[in-house]
Amino acid sequence: MAAEREDAGGPAARERSASGWEELAPGVVRRRLPRWDATVGAVRGTSGLLLVDAGASVEEGARVRDELLGMFGLPVTRVVLTHPHFDHVLGAASFTAARVYAAAGMDVRLAGAGEELRRDAEHHGMPGDEAAASAESLAVPGHAVRGELTLSPGGREVVLVDLGAAHSPHDLAVVVRGTGEGGADGRTVVFCGDLVEESGEPQAGPDASPALWPAALDRLLSLGGQDALYVPGHGAVVDAAFVRAQRDGLARRFAQS
Ligand SMILES: [Zn+2]
Repeated sequence: MAAEREDAGGPAARERSASGWEELAPGVVRRRLPRWDATVGAVRGTSGLLLVDAGASVEEGARVRDELLGMFGLPVTRVVLTHPHFDHVLGAASFTAARVYAAAGMDVRLAGAGEELRRDAEHHGMPGDEAAASAESLAVPGHAVRGELTLSPGGREVVLVDLGAAHSPHDLAVVVRGTGEGGADGRTVVFCGDLVEESGEPQAGPDASPALWPAALDRLLSLGGQDALYVPGHGAVVDAAFVRAQRDGLARRFAQS
């Protein structure tokens, strides 16, 4: 969670459509949603799209679904949830035909979390009826990721990585491997969830495990490498140096507390 601010520009030349979608690599896009500035991403496959996070409500999710259908002419067939916070998961119910993936334990976490997520969404300013309708139809992940799970939409290697507890009890990163051909097209794209935030300080709520957070970022850096584009849960796309600096800042911040 963080307040929205102007995109300061990322490390790569990227196209941005009028609707706010940025192309990070061929067939890999993301946009920053209004209100809580949460990121959603998508990877084009042959017959469907893989979506990373789903928006903060069923209405937001439906808008994302329709925009992607308009851009690619393909439905979302897989939804991957990076962690169990309302601004990332409550839109998942808008993708009724999709398989929903998340870190192992997210199914149990979300199964009883409707009321808590509704309260959290309302607390952050979502209208009551929108929050209630979204919480009521909360989608529980049916596909648990333990360790790493490799998918290959459109022949592209996409690795879902369970990073355990850090920003939340169940953090998961999505690593979209580059084509290895060099240049912008060849870059790996790492969707970090809220393990990384650019538009504000990383948010450590009561369900965070700050002591484990720096190690999760070390793992993220080893997965993506020096040249990857790192997509934060909130804010502009960053590079490895930014993630490393945030890791060091978190280590200092929580060593003192
Ligand atoms: Zn979060």
